[in-house]
Amino acid sequence: MGRRADLKTGYNCNCNCVFCVIGDKLFTGDRSTRDCLDELRASRARCEDVVFTGAEVTIRDDFFTLLAAAKKLGYRTIQVQTNGRMLAYRAFAERAVAAGANEFSPSIHGPTAKIHDALTRARGSFDQVVACIDNLVALGQRVITNTVVTPTNAPHLPALATMLVARRVAQFQLAFPHPTGHADTLFDRVVPRMSEVAPHIHAALAIGVAGGVDCMAEAMPYCMMLGHESRVAELHIPPTEIVYDGYVVPDYAEDRVGRGKRRFEQCSPCRWESICEGTWREYPQRRGSEEFSPVLGARVVDPALVLDGALEMLGSEAPPWPQPQSELPPYTALAFYPEDFSPACTAQAQGMEAGHAMLAARGVTLLGVSPDDERRHETFAAAQGLSYRLISDPEFDLARAYGVVGEAPRRTVLVDARGRIAHVITRVDTAAHAAQILAAIDKLEAPPRSVLPRDDLVVLRRPSPSSRNGESQSGASRSGA
Ligand code: SF4
Repeated sequence: MGRRADLKTGYNCNCNCVFCVIGDKLFTGDRSTRDCLDELRASRARCEDVVFTGAEVTIRDDFFTLLAAAKKLGYRTIQVQTNGRMLAYRAFAERAVAAGANEFSPSIHGPTAKIHDALTRARGSFDQVVACIDNLVALGQRVITNTVVTPTNAPHLPALATMLVARRVAQFQLAFPHPTGHADTLFDRVVPRMSEVAPHIHAALAIGVAGGVDCMAEAMPYCMMLGHESRVAELHIPPTEIVYDGYVVPDYAEDRVGRGKRRFEQCSPCRWESICEGTWREYPQRRGSEEFSPVLGARVVDPALVLDGALEMLGSEAPPWPQPQSELPPYTALAFYPEDFSPACTAQAQGMEAGHAMLAARGVTLLGVSPDDERRHETFAAAQGLSYRLISDPEFDLARAYGVVGEAPRRTVLVDARGRIAHVITRVDTAAHAAQILAAIDKLEAPPRSVLPRDDLVVLRRPSPSSRNGESQSGASRSGA
């Protein structure tokens, strides 16, 4: 995933959504064209993609100028987050595409005008966002819709999902509201009890999955996403910097986890504790945390596993390998690799050998596994001076048993002293694999993280003479943000 700049262009809007996270700043003005162009140039040094967000960027006089500037700067993906009202006009949508936009994220908050318009407080906005979606799909654009989940629209999410599948959006996202701005002021009306809306969210996701549409839910911890864990939206957000009012949040994920969200005392035994973001910190202040119960099972320490079939293997009995030790060490690392003597496999073997003493001191027994025969293994081990054992797996029986399949199967499975699969390294760093194994063990053995949110803002100030003000604000995305 490339790095993304999330450029907030101001506070003017042609809706007034009941859950708007910048509701307290709405209609107070936009950043100047010059500031936005400066921000675009500055972020391009670090980012390949850009998202224009606002309030509502499409109502700016310089909307097409900003898109054209982003295109000229070479941004790869130029996404427009929008309420979709202006893009209901076909000529406007065509002009946006011609100027450089190539991905659109319109907000749609229900399957009917009655539900959607009541939430946006803008009559006619439902018909307009539907026309926007149809226009953009017809223009071959990638459309990723966003829906903020409220007590009003939650029961209708399956109907909305059905509609979005039929309208051939590329992706839909259901966002649990972030209780700031209007969502704070109107909390009881706008913010549902998470456990009560979760079944509707799951039903909508199931419809999306069955319809072949990418779909996910934002700001929902894993204990609310059982069965749809890979649909946790935060797993899919690329590294992002948030740019607003002359400030930059350089690492949105760090800011979100460290400051924006929180977990709970009862999270400590949860299998997801190591990677879960929890909820927006404001939610438990109003609703408490009794809804959130730890999920028991093998600890998950790498988000990559949630998107990988290997997740299912965690905690299960490890398939036997030839000549196991009578008493298993704290960890056995089965490093599956494609071929002795290939450059990448040689580098990996050399790195593992260099770190062998450190691994042994940590209780790790290393085993290399590849389809090469015993004789080639002996030659390879002698040539590289390997002191750990190599296993020959000519028919890939062991590899298949561990789910290591594909054209260039390279992954490492950690088996614990009880003979259970503790972790799978799915993205092997061949140059530093020993360190990678040790880092994984550190995470597996780490105590639970502090549940206290940080109060410091993870922001940098960019000199910007015409910035609106010096206030700080959340650097989260529009959807839940
Ligand atoms: S760590 Fe806490 S909030 Fe996250 S899934 Fe587990 S119990 Fe839920």
